[in-house]
Amino acid sequence: MVVGAGFYGSVMAERFANELGWKVVVLEKRNHIGGNCWSCPDPETGIEVHEYGPHIFHTSHEQGWKYLNRFTKFNNYRHTVWATRKGKVYPLPFGLAAINLLLGRRLSPDEARAWVAEEVRKTGIADPKNLEEKALSLIGRPLYEAFVKEYNEKHWGMKPTELPAYIITRLPIRYTYNVGYYNDRWEGIPIDGYGAIFKKLLEHPNIEVRLNTDYFSVRNSLPPHDLLIYTGPIDRFFDYKHGRLGWRSVRFEKQVLDIKDFQGTSVMNECDGDVPYTRTHEFKHFTPELKFDRTVIFREYSFAPGLDDDLYYPVRTNEDVARHAKYLAEAATVPHVIFGGRLGAYAYLDMENTVSTALDKYADLRRGAVAG
Ligand SMILES: Cc1cc2nc3c(=O)[nH]c(=O)nc-3n(C[C@H](O)[C@H](O)[C@H](O)COP(=O)(O)OP(=O)(O)OC[C@H]3O[C@@H](n4cnc5c(N)ncnc54)[C@H](O)[C@@H]3O)c2cc1C
Repeated sequence: MVVGAGFYGSVMAERFANELGWKVVVLEKRNHIGGNCWSCPDPETGIEVHEYGPHIFHTSHEQGWKYLNRFTKFNNYRHTVWATRKGKVYPLPFGLAAINLLLGRRLSPDEARAWVAEEVRKTGIADPKNLEEKALSLIGRPLYEAFVKEYNEKHWGMKPTELPAYIITRLPIRYTYNVGYYNDRWEGIPIDGYGAIFKKLLEHPNIEVRLNTDYFSVRNSLPPHDLLIYTGPIDRFFDYKHGRLGWRSVRFEKQVLDIKDFQGTSVMNECDGDVPYTRTHEFKHFTPELKFDRTVIFREYSFAPGLDDDLYYPVRTNEDVARHAKYLAEAATVPHVIFGGRLGAYAYLDMENTVSTALDKYADLRRGAVAG
């Protein structure tokens, strides 16, 4: 029994059905498969739209790449992210172009490195206690104030001084003009969209998908099953008995425009605090090989989710981490239940991490199943 038809649940279902010949029932509370990675053609324009925010597949791990290439081909899209700050546009992540545009100078790589080191030194922060101090200790005040501070305030709905330092582990600065967002070996968008991958993953006579089915509404009337793979929120599984884990949610405001191109790129970060949304997405740029006369944009707004809202980014304050440890202890008492995926693991996982952790967990379970 699999709860959730996102990447974690769908990969598990495919492996158990295809390789071990098990019968698998997939319960999905939404009216479609694919979880947050779901995409489909926009009915008005035909442009492939990622309903839950833009998804770019990227990986350097051969296992996940080879596995997914059995279900789709990828186009040659290479992701770039641009940021608007006080009426000017900068490329991210931080690199020579962003630094030189910000300063109105032409620093060489060594000069830029020395400038950042001096800005970091001026902050005098050796032991960062919160997100603001962590960012300042990594990139110094000018870059932090231009691109991190107000953006993160909007994104998390809290002041960076109230957020834990470990939300930011690294803020890499490239001392080149390379504006590619990812450093991975492989990158791209599935040529038939994400929806087509999930249809293929779940297309097997041993797999039955039940859409519009919330596990908690049917859990007492399910047929007997040997294993439950649960990819919903772990705190919900245990009726929130140790309290709710902190998440941030986003909603998207869609607009179809009668113009060919709105912003010339797929993702624009909005770094000014007085712009209420965090990012603007324009989906046609993910498939430059296709031509459309109109365009679709999404504006992304961040908010604190209620009980019925979709969960997007784990906040992971110290209290959340302590609470999560209690849920992990509860999970150890139900060994026939596997908690996986981003909601089950209470973690931000890229698609590749999600696919790889599902494949690794399946390999573990398979060893157990084959051993009896
Ligand atoms: C805004 C945003 C952008 C992202 N962009 C990228 C990107 O560019 N590249 C990248 O690699 N990764 C990206 N990710 C990460 C990607 O979304 C995740 O890796 C992926 O969704 C994880 O898959 P999953 O199966 O764990 O979870 P999900 O996709 O969330 O699937 C879980 C499924 O379980 C279902 N479910 C939950 N509870 C129940 C229940 N009680 N009963 C039945 N069904 C239930 C849900 O409806 C959902 O369909 C992004 C994430 C976000 C938030």
